Amino acid sequence: MTSIRIPLDAPNIGELEKEYVLRALESGYVSSIGPLVSEFEGRFAGYVGARYAVATVNGTAAIHLALRLLGIGPGDEVIVPALTFIATANPVVYVGATPVVVDVDPLTWNIDPDEVERAVTDRTRAVIPVHLYGNPADMSRLMDIARRHGLYVIEDAAEALGATYNGQHVGTFGDIGIFSFNGNKVITTGGGGMLVTNDPDLAARARLLVNQGRAFGVMEYEHLEIGYNFRLTNTQAALGLAQMERLEQFLATKRRNASLYRELLNKVPGLGWQQELHEGRSSWWLFSILVNPNDFGQDRYALARRLQGAGIQVRPLFLPLSRQPAYAGYGLKTCPVAESLHRRGLNLPSASFLTEEDVRYVCQVLLER
Ligand SMILES: *Cc1c(COP(=O)(O)O)cnc(C)c1O
Repeated sequence: MTSIRIPLDAPNIGELEKEYVLRALESGYVSSIGPLVSEFEGRFAGYVGARYAVATVNGTAAIHLALRLLGIGPGDEVIVPALTFIATANPVVYVGATPVVVDVDPLTWNIDPDEVERAVTDRTRAVIPVHLYGNPADMSRLMDIARRHGLYVIEDAAEALGATYNGQHVGTFGDIGIFSFNGNKVITTGGGGMLVTNDPDLAARARLLVNQGRAFGVMEYEHLEIGYNFRLTNTQAALGLAQMERLEQFLATKRRNASLYRELLNKVPGLGWQQELHEGRSSWWLFSILVNPNDFGQDRYALARRLQGAGIQVRPLFLPLSRQPAYAGYGLKTCPVAESLHRRGLNLPSASFLTEEDVRYVCQVLLER
């Protein structure tokens, strides 16, 4: 295997992170007790402009928790986009509900509002739009459809910390928004996630459920509900606080590199990329291209192998949910736009420490076909 010279995305850990984590370790609070979790939650809520933020062990757990908070379960249908990471849909199955996939928009690659509207039945309870690769979905149309049909909206903003729609942070439009701090996301806590909401009752119950449903402020181990061990630890929150201080710098680098990719690849026959809506500002978590083999002269499989051979880490777009072996028995419908994007799409290196020279090198190799 060729060694990786330019990674797709990798954690950006510096002196500040070491300092904060060391201080947290020295405080003795290594687990879920300690002051930093609520400090991180407060900092995060303030940044995205949500009233409440509840930290979780990862983003998948935050989606699971969101569905549980909204009372979604057996007999209910939840609409999800076909083109996403599998963790958008799995929690729907965890709570015993039925995932219904719909196709995505060919320009933004995000859930198509018309398709959502067509998929609504009298069993539909919620929709989970994903801001794919950081690119904001069409939130005004989605919120309008949700309101008209009485659906809950859970925004999967796992990849989209820092992205905005009409100047408002994604994750704050729906009833609940979730974020991920996995090692490869916009910021990392090693593993971790966040649930945000403006509803005080949902937030209070989320705090209860992440901590095994245990009552606060009483000496007894009294558990009011069957909850989960979904808490983030003090050590992870220390890492998160350091990353939050550097977030704007990460986003600025990602934005600059995405612009540079577009500039260097502009007018190359057979290449295209994900489009932001007029209202949307992407976090540019992963800059991704579409390859039309007839015009470009090489298909995306061959291009991927060539880039990997040069130490440039790339990845195909997510395999549509309807094509996942794990969902073979679920009768998910085939989604032609998602299929076509997957066949042609490739994520390019987008780590927040990549230099302009790195991006130029990727483009140079890419064009040597
Ligand atoms: C990463 C991711 C998740 C899950 O987050 P984890 O922290 O890895 O559990 C969910 N949805 C999307 C779209 C993701 O990219």
